[in-house]
Amino acid sequence: MNEVPSCRSVLIYGTAVLLPDGWIEPGYIYLKHGVVEQLGAGDAPQGLSQEADTVIHAPNRAVVPGLTNAHTHFAQTFMRGLASGRPLLRWLKERIWPLQAAFTADDMNLAARLGILENIRCGATHITDHHKVTYTPEHTHVVCKAADDMGVYMTLARSWSDIGAGAEEPRQILDHLASLYSTWKGERIAIANGPLAAWRCSARTLLESHELALNNGSFSHIHIAESLDEMEMSGEKYQMSPFAWLDSLGILDARMQLVHAVWADEHDVDRIAGSGAIVIHCPVSNEVLGSGIAPLSTFLARDVRILLGTDGPASNDTQDIFETIKASLLLSRVSTHNANSLSPTEALHMALDGRRIEKGGAADLIIVNLDHPRATPVHDYDSALTLCCHGSDVETVIVDGKILMYDNKVLVEDEESLLSECRERVKFLRERVGLE
Ligand SMILES: [Zn+2]
Repeated sequence: MNEVPSCRSVLIYGTAVLLPDGWIEPGYIYLKHGVVEQLGAGDAPQGLSQEADTVIHAPNRAVVPGLTNAHTHFAQTFMRGLASGRPLLRWLKERIWPLQAAFTADDMNLAARLGILENIRCGATHITDHHKVTYTPEHTHVVCKAADDMGVYMTLARSWSDIGAGAEEPRQILDHLASLYSTWKGERIAIANGPLAAWRCSARTLLESHELALNNGSFSHIHIAESLDEMEMSGEKYQMSPFAWLDSLGILDARMQLVHAVWADEHDVDRIAGSGAIVIHCPVSNEVLGSGIAPLSTFLARDVRILLGTDGPASNDTQDIFETIKASLLLSRVSTHNANSLSPTEALHMALDGRRIEKGGAADLIIVNLDHPRATPVHDYDSALTLCCHGSDVETVIVDGKILMYDNKVLVEDEESLLSECRERVKFLRERVGLE
């Protein structure tokens, strides 16, 4: 493993920095004891480079807050490239559920570390893992431990269903959630309620688990209206849309995160806007599975708060949040036939989730390399980041003053041996499931 540079203080200078009121270039930023102690336009004040433990000269780079990946499934890092043209329900039944069912806690640990590693490499420092593999408390614990060890912010939305294949007893779900809330109370690792999908959950357990989340200062995070098949099932079961059903239960509120919401109609958008619920937009996953195009511009016109998610690597098939930012922008424009329906600045800010680089604020930022043909020349930093860059352009990642990746080297995991171990482990997993 690479030696972690001393992280008591870091000076980054000669770079473009995104501040709350716009870009400065060149600018500098000085991090000390986990916070932004100084920043400004122009050259860094004399003496700072002598005082700093680590000095990074970063011309032709952009410094922005760490990005948010608001929805993924770490178990699926072992299941990339398996969609093979299957729509959502066939993909789940023929590929994802059998593989997940064969996961050991050791598999889960490796898959989570691989997923976190990829997110760090792509600049996502705040991640929500919708954790579906909940067979034992150990399966859940290893994911939280991996995120804690590797230094990212993670919310583990503990998934569950109490209807259909793999249904759990409601008591078991609620007891496990209560135990998780009391175990992971830290700043960086948090727990949320993660009902799998509206059609796989009973009203009673949804109500009780949402109330438990609220009592623990948390929220619920649910797949909803992802495909037309799901909408038909919802119509047959409830005689209403899944959004209307959540609303009828009294749990469509500001502590509800709605993942996908592709097939929300005008009435649903009204409901969501009135409730304060958050929509997690996963455009690349929706494209891979042919699920549809979410009405992003309609949501934004109604001031619905939008966050971006890659979704799991089995339906993406990467964790590149930059690709998701670009897909949001392009799909919004093509679906509205309007080249101005979403700007690069708006798209970038969906991935920033309100985080800002400011004096006294958290030393949580990434340095993105623009010194390559895809991003040369830079006329506008927001456009360069959203339309020209890939996750692999992220060079350095700092969270709370700790350097997780430095000049393209991940410092919080032995990357080479992790990749090798994952490749070996997946061979055994495929054998156990009988996957040819
Ligand atoms: Zn998902």
